[in-house]
Amino acid sequence: MRAHPLVAAVLLVLLTGCDVSRVFPDPGQSPPSSVSADLVPQALRDVERFWATAFPALSDGERFQPVRGGYHPYTRRNPPPACGDEPTQYQPNAFYCPAGDFIAWDAETLIPRLHDEFGPLLVGVVMAHEYGHAVQARLRVTGQPTVVLEQQADCYAGAWVGDALAGRSTAFRNITTAQLDNTVGGLLLLRDEPGTPALAPQAHGNAFDRIRAYQEGVEQGADRCATYRAGNLPVTEVPFRDEEEAATGGNLPYPQAINTLGEDAQAYWQRAFPQLADRSWQPLRVVAFDAAPPDCTDPDPTTEGAFYCPAADFAAFDAGRLAPALYERIGDNAVGVLIGDLFARAVQDRRGATTDGRAGQLAVDCLSGTWANDLLTRGQDAPIRLSPGDLDEAVTALVAFDRAARDPSVSAFDRIAAYRGGVLEGLSACT
Ligand SMILES: [Zn+2]
Repeated sequence: MRAHPLVAAVLLVLLTGCDVSRVFPDPGQSPPSSVSADLVPQALRDVERFWATAFPALSDGERFQPVRGGYHPYTRRNPPPACGDEPTQYQPNAFYCPAGDFIAWDAETLIPRLHDEFGPLLVGVVMAHEYGHAVQARLRVTGQPTVVLEQQADCYAGAWVGDALAGRSTAFRNITTAQLDNTVGGLLLLRDEPGTPALAPQAHGNAFDRIRAYQEGVEQGADRCATYRAGNLPVTEVPFRDEEEAATGGNLPYPQAINTLGEDAQAYWQRAFPQLADRSWQPLRVVAFDAAPPDCTDPDPTTEGAFYCPAADFAAFDAGRLAPALYERIGDNAVGVLIGDLFARAVQDRRGATTDGRAGQLAVDCLSGTWANDLLTRGQDAPIRLSPGDLDEAVTALVAFDRAARDPSVSAFDRIAAYRGGVLEGLSACT
């Protein structure tokens, strides 16, 4: 969160390979992994199976040609082949080389770690992303900023996952909700550092935008991805305004975050609630408790750390442990999402709508997102606005909340999509 306007930066655009080496900067100390050496080739062959069917629709009927330069696992001892004039050296990375039309990946560090932390499907997603760049080369996509090409590759990876979810993959069968959520968790890890300008040479996108592109691919397929251009993508990645903001990571001090976010949510719903309920918004009492939660029969949800109490019409959250932990581990907007969730539950109750089950939870997430939409789009003299990293903090918090809730009827994948609808479209997305 910050108290100052967003600043757009325009930088030169260079086309480069995908760089995920920031995530695993210290190779060589991995414990033994259970990953099979066949996993990546199997995934790549399955991606080729997908494109053999999907490609002609994007190419006026031209047949799909698999990469001519082959697949290249590499290690520190056996580095990847040269890519055109670019010298190669070991990096914990995966890349498509246009000059040699090949795909290479670090089999020593990157793939074992992704596999062990997020499962085999994320390994498939990373390879489908790299193959997406080979598809761009075949379709001769040029003149687009790196961030657009990267999001398109994420979208193409999602399209492959959508095909696998439909049961057509021979390598990945019976994909579970938890596996799908793990791919979202992996994209959170592979995001740009907060504050990266969207047009920076290496920009791949923040997690919020990358997950949007990935989910669009899963749900709408490769035809949708092929339409991506610089002019039609909502890019929420912005640079830090100055060094001071970069130093704080855009995070307000904790006590200020709690107070300002609570006041701002109140002011937002005073403006927004009449559009939903044809009534004015009465201030919501918010109890920040330290040890014992205030009494409530039938709290919503039934967790102790944060709830809305429909019977007595107040919200309460643990400001002694839960909120500081969210602030420390994720950032100030994780607290924002906590508060946004409680206000959204009050909104649903006050307008006679439910928060129960899958539909109720997704309505809460969408309404919570509309407050972030307001924070993102409001005027420059507003008391607070979103800072770089805030939307990624929100997505991270939603993944964490979903794990804590353990409600099998709703996935983090769906909750993030609902939240994003509110963020990008406002109240119209939720009604
Ligand atoms: Zn890429």
